Amino acid sequence: MIVVLDEARAQADIAGSVLRCPGCAGRLRRWGFARPRSLRAPGGGRVWLRPRRVRCTSCAVTHVLLPAIAPARHGYAIDVVGQVLGARAQGRSHRTIGAELEMPPDTVRGWIRRVTARAQWLHVQGTTMAHEVDAMLPATVPAGSALADAVSALGAAASAVVRRLGRVASPWQIIAVIARRRLLMPLPSG
Ligand SMILES: [Zn+2]
Repeated sequence: MIVVLDEARAQADIAGSVLRCPGCAGRLRRWGFARPRSLRAPGGGRVWLRPRRVRCTSCAVTHVLLPAIAPARHGYAIDVVGQVLGARAQGRSHRTIGAELEMPPDTVRGWIRRVTARAQWLHVQGTTMAHEVDAMLPATVPAGSALADAVSALGAAASAVVRRLGRVASPWQIIAVIARRRLLMPLPSG
């Protein structure tokens, strides 16, 4: 699976061979579409995706170009994840957030646990990216919890990307890419 911020841009990048096979760095060719999927969007509506599939011309493995709006294996758009994490960073409980966003509180709690467990790593990704994009950026101030610090650092990095590149995607779509799609990845068991 390859994450892309902007599908039109991805098409051009495939044509220009900028996007390479994650397995062998071979050239990618268009290879039809993956199955359509729907995600819950902020406000409770649904968005439908029909991700493009590509095939490596060297190793013949196919990959799905999943846009950054779609967190892997979750039926919610990334901007809903952002609403949950933003509310948590402000100190709201998983029950309050679940009620506000009409989501199962257990889903909210599960996301909070995963992000809290890798908050330090996420904080480092955000800080590193922010300084790569804008070396003059001041360090973010402590925000009250490990999760809030991570959200704050990732938000600063996304803002720096938008200042540099323009609004290539929504802030949380950019954050999903900065977090290398690991925001909601399951925690190692044990
Ligand atoms: Zn390959």
